[in-house]
Amino acid sequence: MSVTRQTKILIIGSGPAGYTAAVYASRAMLEPILVQGIEPGGQLTTTTEVENWPGDSEVQGPDLMLRMEAHAKVMGTEIIGDIINELNLDQRPFMAKGDSGTVYYADAVILATGARAKWLGLPSEEKFKGFGVSACATCDGFFYRGQEIVVVGGGNTAVEEALFLTNFASKVTLVHRRDELRAEKILQDRLFKHPKIETMWFNELVEVIGADAPLGVEAVKVKNVTSGEMTEIVCKGVFIAIGHAPENELVKEVLEMHNGGYVKVQLGSTRTSIPGVFAAGDLTDHIYRQAVTSAGMGCMAALDAEKFLAEQE
Ligand code: FAD
Ligand code: NAP
Repeated sequence: MSVTRQTKILIIGSGPAGYTAAVYASRAMLEPILVQGIEPGGQLTTTTEVENWPGDSEVQGPDLMLRMEAHAKVMGTEIIGDIINELNLDQRPFMAKGDSGTVYYADAVILATGARAKWLGLPSEEKFKGFGVSACATCDGFFYRGQEIVVVGGGNTAVEEALFLTNFASKVTLVHRRDELRAEKILQDRLFKHPKIETMWFNELVEVIGADAPLGVEAVKVKNVTSGEMTEIVCKGVFIAIGHAPENELVKEVLEMHNGGYVKVQLGSTRTSIPGVFAAGDLTDHIYRQAVTSAGMGCMAALDAEKFLAEQE
């Protein structure tokens, strides 16, 4: 028999946006329910040191997210380990179904489903996913002690992953399609100074090469984007760090989107194209995509939802 839950505010997602919305909605006595999703704590649980969260010159990503969870809980949020697989925004109250079988009814919904890692889309990448190909250095770096590793990408994530992987690897090669990194200057400096890291500019990964039995990576083939020259790099691990795409699966058919799938909100607010539905964090932000900006938008979403609910009464 399915369980039915009713709430004034349903918060979907447990990253900085979701937990901050939860703190504010709880303090407004709205008794929110927050559904955590497949990754409790969100993207920061896949990293190590976070150095730009105000008030902490250094904090471990997973620790920070546990603190946020505890904060939301102590303020009065009910936190539920479930994954929403269906969201009906045509009806009031809004209805969401969880993998657990629970059906949630809510007067307002805050979407804080964040983003997920992008992949290159190569058949060989797919074949070796989990067997040498990964998008999470914190999760999988340990498996490559003393081995050679390739990291693909040129943003903050790629540089941080490359640096982190030097804790395990004998050598890390950063393959990037240009000769300029997007990563912050401070991270670039650390990368360029690191004796274990080599950069390979103007190259893109075209194939992951490996053995079938047991399944495992042995090398990657990269192609120079200007000369077309192919090079094979021997490695046991390949970390794809080419950015993240908004996790819009639940709402992509019903809410207005822009900039390639980010939920559109009204300028200066978190209001989406459906009244009573608010969006915060990486799901709606194609520019900043930071923990602190996500938390800020979570706060805005809770305040916007509170105002919406007051107007309904
Ligand atoms: P996310 O953190 O992406 O969380 C999304 C949440 O939604 C997850 O809990 C997920 O389980 C949930 N969810 C998704 N779908 C569903 C569903 N169907 N049902 C229920 N729940 C669902 N930013 C910084 O400011 N500093 C850093 O040092 C930093 N380091 C980073 C390192 C890495 C490796 C990565 C990947 C990102 C880093 N970022 C950093 C960026 C930062 O993590 C994000 O900007 C931030 O986490 C976004 O927060 P969010 O709440 O919008 O979503
Ligand atoms: P990103 O900033 O979007 O960078 C993605 C990188 O991958 C770019 O260098 C891009 O190359 C490259 N790329 C994209 N598609 C590619 C493809 N198909 N083939 C090869 N290369 C490809 O993504 P991110 O590094 O994951 O960062 C996401 C957000 O999280 C950013 O806002 C970032 O600031 C934030 N973040 C912050 C921190 C921190 O503050 N310490 C840490 C991690 C992430 P081009 O440069 O050529 O486009």
